[in-house]
Amino acid sequence: MAIKQTLSMIKPDGVKRGLIGEVIGRFEKNGLKIKAMKMLHLTKAQAQQFYAVHQERPFYGSLTEFMSSGPIVALILEGENAIQVNRDLMGATDYRQAAAGTIRADFARDIEANIVHGSDAAETAKTEIAFFFNELEKV
Ligand code: ADP
Ligand code: MG
Repeated sequence: MAIKQTLSMIKPDGVKRGLIGEVIGRFEKNGLKIKAMKMLHLTKAQAQQFYAVHQERPFYGSLTEFMSSGPIVALILEGENAIQVNRDLMGATDYRQAAAGTIRADFARDIEANIVHGSDAAETAKTEIAFFFNELEKV
């Protein structure tokens, strides 16, 4: 199986609720290595750029408000099948449909404020990693 990298974000609700350590602990316990990490507060424009793929969706305005409402933690995770492993740890977008034991099932109580983001494919992982990190910031 290929070693792959993926981009994870702990969203403003996860940071506010003190879940950074909990979420990172789950990554580390499940074979995902942290290759880069930073905390930052996205502007609305940066959140709009990051989620540009969703710009036609009805929740785009609200989502980008939320994503720029407080600090986030961005991480590059690396491991075998990192993209899928991370998606499996996150659980479904809607916490009510997320499998038991996933981050969203355990902590999210809102479809929008759902604790974590994870890239959904190799191409998006590449773009999303480049959005947050330059070469000097990767180990
Ligand atoms: P995921 O984060 O699981 O990849 P999507 O890419 O479909 O999910 O959506 C991006 C983010 O937009 C979600 O994580 C969530 O914060 C928000 N979102 C998705 N669907 C809805 C919805 N129906 N109502 C409100 N917010 C939503
Ligand atoms: Mg997505």
